[in-house]
Amino acid sequence: MNFYQIMPKLMCRDYGFECDFVAEGEEGKVIEEFRTHMEEIHGIDYSVEAVKHFITRKQK
Ligand SMILES: [Zn+2]
Repeated sequence: MNFYQIMPKLMCRDYGFECDFVAEGEEGKVIEEFRTHMEEIHGIDYSVEAVKHFITRKQK
């Protein structure tokens, strides 16, 4: 793993949820964890593309 690579981080609070869930780490893992959490806990089925978009926007 590249030390200088930016680790994606997604927090439910950033998207208006009253929830302390945070997904952080390698991009593929963050996407999978965030999508699973969203579907199981919040009942929202985000696509992989949608979650990738969240990460891209956060890294600007
Ligand atoms: Zn949540």
